[in-house]
Amino acid sequence: MSQEQDVQRLTDTMAKFTAYIGKHLPTDVEAKLKELREKETKPLAKAVFMSMAENQEAAARLDRPSCQDTGMIQYFITAGAKFPLLGELEEILREATLEATRKAPLRHNTVETFDEKNTGTNTGTRSPWLDWEIVPGDDGATIDVYMAGGGCTLPGAATVLMPGQGYEGVADFVFDVISSRGVNACPPLLVGVGVSTAAETAARLSKKALMRPVDSHAHHPNAAKMEDLLEEGLNELGIGPQGLSGTASVMGVNIESSARHPSTIGVAVSTGCWAHRRGRIRINADLSYEIVSHQGAVL
Ligand code: SF4
Repeated sequence: MSQEQDVQRLTDTMAKFTAYIGKHLPTDVEAKLKELREKETKPLAKAVFMSMAENQEAAARLDRPSCQDTGMIQYFITAGAKFPLLGELEEILREATLEATRKAPLRHNTVETFDEKNTGTNTGTRSPWLDWEIVPGDDGATIDVYMAGGGCTLPGAATVLMPGQGYEGVADFVFDVISSRGVNACPPLLVGVGVSTAAETAARLSKKALMRPVDSHAHHPNAAKMEDLLEEGLNELGIGPQGLSGTASVMGVNIESSARHPSTIGVAVSTGCWAHRRGRIRINADLSYEIVSHQGAVL
């Protein structure tokens, strides 16, 4: 195959996968929603969970996006330095976004900042948004596709705490964000928390935390413990599905961290909504692929 044919092949795969993500929730999110639905005892909250399940079933049956807001498309790329189409990947993902927008179809959400004009294509300046990590020696690529809806993006916040505020300060910040603005993001939420030096490093980590499966834990045992404590505490707020009160406020809390400057604690929160549309695909060097996030998915 020529390189041109390879580019076309990967563009097709990524366009189909991007469109698929808009219509099907990942296996871990579906399982968590089922668990919360079965555990819920309040009739109104239970009814909301039931209508979420019916919505998902209808989206799959009718081959339509599961929420009107198909979001801004973001790709989180972990690419091997030896991946054969590394240099072409940016253009491939741009084309894939255009194609998915036409074929799914996806709502046109991309507005050029300062022009205040919708491009009508879901592409624009730095859109789709690409986040890169390069892995030396690897010849494949793992790509997370994320649809950043308006509501689920709205609560996002970052700050830098004084060192004396400690981990209690981190917990306070998370509670402030979720209790004041979490309801905008169609709960139950997946809460991503980044802890790092600065606002921007914490913010990036908080978003990457949303790419981790629900019910997964951070590597560090103290971070894992904090995830459990935050989840328990946030559920005690009783926000419930769609903010109408209920047993669960969140699907879970995922924390990602980095080493940091001793004088600062950067902390950020990103939120994913109940319709947390993200998907992970592993592309091999020969461009065969495996869909990691959605069991039994066929493109
Ligand atoms: S928060 Fe999620 S479910 Fe709610 S409108 Fe936005 S994308 Fe849709």
